[in-house]
Amino acid sequence: MTNLHGNDTKARLAREVAAATRILVDEKILDYSGHVSTRLPGGAGFLIQTGLDSRAELRPERLLAVDYNGKVLEGEGNPPAELALHLEILKARRDIESVLHCHMDLAIAFTMMKGVKLQLMRARAVRWESGIPTHPDPSHIKLTEQAQALARTLGPHHAVLMRGHGLTLVAESVPALLVDAVHFQENALAMMQVLQAGAEPEALTEDELVQINKHEMREFHIGKLWNYYFKKAVSDEVIPADWIQP
Ligand SMILES: [Zn+2]
Repeated sequence: MTNLHGNDTKARLAREVAAATRILVDEKILDYSGHVSTRLPGGAGFLIQTGLDSRAELRPERLLAVDYNGKVLEGEGNPPAELALHLEILKARRDIESVLHCHMDLAIAFTMMKGVKLQLMRARAVRWESGIPTHPDPSHIKLTEQAQALARTLGPHHAVLMRGHGLTLVAESVPALLVDAVHFQENALAMMQVLQAGAEPEALTEDELVQINKHEMREFHIGKLWNYYFKKAVSDEVIPADWIQP
């Protein structure tokens, strides 16, 4: 990962992962743990950070290239303890490119409330209209069998809550994953605010979801938010000023 400023796909993907990771820390979605992975082109495995590197200071050249057997092909250091989670989801879901695993407080809260399920409250939550399953295993996902079980719970959906532990999101690109993470947090916060007001949540109806989908411009929206968050991170010195926007 030496070609940090290059224009090849691998260098661009590495910049996306490093930038998204720093932005997600700034948005309080990642902290001292959690990680983003994304496929390399041509079946050459995927990029993921090491277990030890700080999410707040991640650099593109520090990322590891890992194959689909979990072997490190390139880079220094060891993959995160939950590498299997990324590996098995990327293997099970050929339709997606990128995976985020994080320990978002608001997501975890919705795995700990008896009789309360996270619902689709805000318009952008239409992304999860197929469902947001909760995986029952609260332990860290270190073993292949655990990760395969998580991939089964995720099924064809775009998000899976993990009981007392966290959240995993999947998307078609790293910028899409960042945008989804922001909206997942907004939606969970909206429902929490309704509950904290002592009111009964009134989720979006099927008709309303149909209506929202009619006007959905996902690609445009992702480009707009990626540009916003990248530039904001540069002005806030979360991302170094000399990084090229991927
Ligand atoms: Zn975890």
